[in-house]
Formats: sequence, C-alpha cells, structure tokens
Amino acid sequence: MFENLSDRLSGVLDRLTKQGALSEDDVKTALREVRVALLEADVSLPVARAFIKKVQDQATGQAVTKSVTPGQQVVKIVHDALVETLSGEGDPGALKIDNPPAPILMVGLQGSGKTTTTAKLAKRLKEKEGKRVLMASLDVNRPAAMEQLEILGKQIGVDTLPIVKGEDPVAIAKRAKTQASLGGYDVYMLDTAGRLHIDQELIQQAADVRDVANPRETLLVVDGLTGQDAVNVAEEFDDKIGVTGVVLTRMDGDGRGGAALSMRAVTGKPIRFVGLGEKMDAIETFEPERIAGRILGMGDIVSLVEKAQETLEAEQAERMMRRFQKGQFNMNDLKMQLEQMQKMGGMEGVMGMMPGMGKMAKQMESAGIDDKIITRQIALIQSMTKKERANPKLLQASRKKRIAKGAGLEVSELNKLLKMQRQMGDMMKKMGKMGKGGMLKQAMK
Ligand code: GDP
Repeated sequence: MFENLSDRLSGVLDRLTKQGALSEDDVKTALREVRVALLEADVSLPVARAFIKKVQDQATGQAVTKSVTPGQQVVKIVHDALVETLSGEGDPGALKIDNPPAPILMVGLQGSGKTTTTAKLAKRLKEKEGKRVLMASLDVNRPAAMEQLEILGKQIGVDTLPIVKGEDPVAIAKRAKTQASLGGYDVYMLDTAGRLHIDQELIQQAADVRDVANPRETLLVVDGLTGQDAVNVAEEFDDKIGVTGVVLTRMDGDGRGGAALSMRAVTGKPIRFVGLGEKMDAIETFEPERIAGRILGMGDIVSLVEKAQETLEAEQAERMMRRFQKGQFNMNDLKMQLEQMQKMGGMEGVMGMMPGMGKMAKQMESAGIDDKIITRQIALIQSMTKKERANPKLLQASRKKRIAKGAGLEVSELNKLLKMQRQMGDMMKKMGKMGKGGMLKQAMK
C-alpha cells in the first residue's frame, strides 16, 4: 500500500546534519514528500498546493527542537497545520436541537450511507442525550429505502413515521412535523431521497422539503472513499441547498482521509461526524487529529499516545516506550497493555488507532480473544511468578497447567495469551523502529 510518510521523511531528512533551524532546503525537500503523501491520500491538487505553500512559509526558519530530527520537526508542523485546517468552530458533535421538535434534514447521494447515518445519529441522540427521536423516510421512489429505515428504527428502538403509500416528500415532511409535535418528540429526522448522481429533480425535492421543514441542521452524508467526487458533491449540495455540516462515511475503509481535507478547504463546511462501519454504533464525532494522523499515514499513534498519557503516569509511559523501542515486551507489559485497553474502551478501540492493528484485532477476535476475556487474561498473568512474567519462555508444560488451573481456565487460553504476547512484541519492535522516525517518542513530549 502506501509508504509511510514518516519513513519516507526520515529517509530523506535524517541524513541531514542537524542545525539550529529548518533551512529552506530542508523544508522544501520534506514538503515534496508531504505533497506526494497528500495526493496519495486523495487530497485534490489545488488544496495540496495551497496547503504546502502555507506550511512552507510557516516552517522555514523555525527552530528545530532539541532531540528531534528536521524530518520529525516538519512532520509535527505538517500535522499541526492539518489539524488547524480541518478544525471547525465549536463542538462538531453538538447538534442544534433546542426548541423541540427540532428538524434535522439528511441529504446525500444514494449509497452514501444516508439512511444508515440517520439511524446511527438517532440512536446517538437517544442514548447519549436522552432525546426522543422520530425518523421519517422521504424516499418515495424507493419503497425499499422506506422499509430499511423502519427496520433500522425497530432495531435501535427509535420510532419511524408510518409509511403512507402515494404521499409526496413535502407531504411526508409536514406529517412528520405534526406527528413530532403531537407526539412530544425532541427531534425529527428527515431522510431525503438519494440519487446516483446529482440531478435537478433531486435538488428541487430537497429544497422543497427544506422550505417546509426549516431544518435546524442540514447534514450532508458523503462517502469518504470517493475522494474528489465527494468534494464536488458537497460543493453542489451546499450551493443549492445549504448544509450545516458533513458526515463522512466509510472512514473505516482504506481511504486515507484526504477527502476530509479537500472538503473542508473547498466548501468551508465543518465535518461533524465520521461513519466507521455498518453497525449502528459505528459513528463518531469528527476529530481533526485522527484524520490528520491518517492522512500522514501514521495511524493514530499521536492520539493513542495522548490517550495513554492521560491514563498512565508520564514516567511509566516513557519507560514503556523505551522498552518497546528496544523490542522488549514481556508479560508485565502485556498486562499493562490489557489494563490500558480496558480503560480505553476495549481492544477494538485501541487497535483501531494503530496502523496495521485493525487487522490484528480481527485476527485476535477470530482467535477468540476479545474484551470479555481481558479480565481472565489478566488473571492468568497474575498467576505467573515474577520470573515467568519477565520471561514467559520459561513456562514449561506442567507450569502452564498449574497456572491455567489457578486462573480457572484451559491451557489453550494460556497458549493464546502467549501467542498474543509474542505477536505484540514483534509489532512493538517494528513500531519502535518507526519510533526512530519519531512520532511515538516525539508525541510523548
Ligand atoms: P443510502 O442509500 O445513502 O441511504 O445508503 P445506506 O444507508 O443504505 O448505506 C449503503 C451501504 O453502506 C449499507 O450497506 C450500509 O451498511 C453501508 N454503510 C453506511 N455507512 C457506512 C460506514 O460508515 N462504513 C461502512 N463500512 N459501511 C457503511
């Protein structure tokens, strides 16, 4: 796939001798690589150009912080500039839903994930904010779409407006408003029809609905994997209908997130949420840092480290990083990691943030290792002696049996745990090497 930007930069820049400040040549050399990375991440050329220009002006002459390389320094500057560009004002997750019932209009192309996102947001509003939500499908051309919303509604325990055959979208929107008022709902969500391409009829329909519903929020749902197309779609929708924010779906896929940067730069509209899968919980508030990390091709190591910092003593974290960089990873480390995982919202939460770890998390899942047994795994580790924990290779068959028994588990569980420790050790070693390219270490400062 893509070559990691930090590897690329360290290749180019770590050979440079360290000076007190970034020279124009250093910056230029580095930014050539950054530009390629941006384009590979699907950032449009004009946006990439403008961005590079801005960073170049900022970076030239900037002092190189002690103990980092010019390459790392540039990555940091680029990262910060990305975050700045991606950030909107205020909390992207705060929907304007005062004055009940508050209408939210959902627009977008067919297949963008609009209906799924409508239901995901409804569930979020219900569970996180305790709101009563009514959902209505306005897709009169596709009865299947109306049924889909109804099915999702049942699944998440959110009411949908009963389907009346032959009604037009404006009539449905009016009925939704009436029902929402009479039924004491806080929010009603209007899932408009999609088309494969933008056409006059689609836009007119959405505009008509907008005019009767007077939505507090008009959220445009776009497929984050479609790159530049997504940006064109956003421009057009915003032009014709006016949107208050964008939801980027399929950010769980291989897309590098460049669409987010282009979208923000071109339309000026804030990205509010990202869709991270098909499940109803797979939606998150947009975090510029995460996308910046992704565009730079460094997973979310930065935010992972930040999260770790919150929960770990700084000193402990540093010791841990130093050990990992040397490729040391024993049962004590694994135990600490497992405990961290519990704190950070389970395996998936942590793994998803590290490059290449998503796949590993899936492997572990299929190997039967999941959050439920983290507690048991910790128990297994606790049953080991100090020596065994430091060097699990010492474990003989008879000891394994005793330890498993002590924790009330099968030996196979212990073997799985040992495999996990080896795999994670290998991976940490790799990351340690990358750490020379410094994000891990640098982010600890
Ligand atoms: P609509 O035509 O815009 O209403 O699109 P749907 O909501 O029907 O979604 C189309 C397909 O995309 C469905 O199979 C969804 O499960 C899937 N989908 C929606 N959002 C996401 C997402 O964030 N990630 C992934 N992987 N799939 C998604």
